[in-house]
Amino acid sequence: MKQLNRALNIAVIGGGMIGLSTAIGLRQQGHHVYLIERGQQPQYSDEPELRVSALAHHSRDLLKQLGAWQQLPVERLGPYTGMHVWDQDSFGSIEFTAAEVAADDLGAIVENKVLEHVLWQQALTVGVQVIAGEAVVAHHHQDNQLVITLAGQRHLTVDYMIAADGAASPTRAREKLPLTYWNYEQTGIVAVVRTEHPHQGIARQVFLPTGPIAWLPLGDAQLVSIVWSADDAKAQELLAADERSFMNQLQAASDQCLGRLELASQRAAFPLKMQYAQRWVSGRLLVIGDAAHAIHPLAGQGANLGFGDVIALLRVFEAGVNPRTLRAWERQRKAAAVTMIGAMEGFKRGFSGSHPVLKLIRGFGLRMGDRIPPLKRFLIQTALGETH
Ligand SMILES: Cc1cc2nc3c(=O)[nH]c(=O)nc-3n(C[C@H](O)[C@H](O)[C@H](O)COP(=O)(O)OP(=O)(O)OC[C@H]3O[C@@H](n4cnc5c(N)ncnc54)[C@H](O)[C@@H]3O)c2cc1C
Repeated sequence: MKQLNRALNIAVIGGGMIGLSTAIGLRQQGHHVYLIERGQQPQYSDEPELRVSALAHHSRDLLKQLGAWQQLPVERLGPYTGMHVWDQDSFGSIEFTAAEVAADDLGAIVENKVLEHVLWQQALTVGVQVIAGEAVVAHHHQDNQLVITLAGQRHLTVDYMIAADGAASPTRAREKLPLTYWNYEQTGIVAVVRTEHPHQGIARQVFLPTGPIAWLPLGDAQLVSIVWSADDAKAQELLAADERSFMNQLQAASDQCLGRLELASQRAAFPLKMQYAQRWVSGRLLVIGDAAHAIHPLAGQGANLGFGDVIALLRVFEAGVNPRTLRAWERQRKAAAVTMIGAMEGFKRGFSGSHPVLKLIRGFGLRMGDRIPPLKRFLIQTALGETH
């Protein structure tokens, strides 16, 4: 822990992976940090969790620096060394491996609750003052500080308030930060599936006319986490279907690449929307992670973008935080978020529908992608998070 001439009082709102990482990083810099989470410390069981994230290299490097990555149970980590993306409706397919960029892997699948549990422990270890089970219900700016009110009517006065309170961010709403928003009209269905053939550490994604399905390899060689992003009507049909009919449809979409599939968990659904806050900084209040931007999960980049925000913000506090450096942070991170949102939109539009010309173009696009080294390299770099 550093000794600072001027340690700041900072409140981070939200104990998801982004809020916890921010709190640990700022505490490591020597600041007095409160982490306020309305829920309790996430716990996990022996069963694989439904929500997972494909974390890129920059996210892993940050988590190592925070001392959290080293504490993740290895059997709950799914490093992936290859990617295979194909279009069910055309002849297109693209494959690449970590070896092509001289890397050991392209990233790792982490169960959200496992990571959040470990980060919470690490926050306590480094001396973050964790306030759990109490929501923030109000805040106001006062001179050069912020006064935060908790549900139990306790007040905290801090120099900075960092809201990592998720896509529905109550802080962002109270501060009236304008939001650009559109609904993808798709729902993400997640589940854990047991496979007949080992997944071999390959992250797979198939594009169907109604939306993509991602197959993410878990620590167990025969378990994958699926994220099926389907147009709302199709998603309703899939959720209402009995297990057998759901699995038959999943089996058909898999092109048999993993052999016979068995459902190994419940199914859960998440509405998918794109949104970003038009302002991320308001005086000494900032929004970060999903509170600032939420994107389609098809490239698994939502949390990776959030970790990019954290890395850049920690640099700002390290070098000296002031209105100018915060504006620069906001500009840089908004550009990264908007670029990713644009890329996701292009992918989503390009791969939905089954118009014959579109099918031809995307088949051609994927084939060329598989052959032309620079395009392939770009795709690999995105997977590695080098474009974060
Ligand atoms: C189906 C799906 C699949 C995804 N897959 C990937 C992937 O593969 N890779 C990837 O990078 N990203 C992925 N994402 C995105 C990723 O899950 C999110 O970007 C990430 O979890 C956001 O973390 P966060 O900490 O910003 O917010 P959250 O995890 O939403 O945390 C916000 C926290 O704030 C707390 N909170 C809210 N209000 C208050 C209050 N008033 N007071 C106190 N606490 C409060 C909440 O209880 C919550 O714990 C996926 C998303 C979806 C929907």
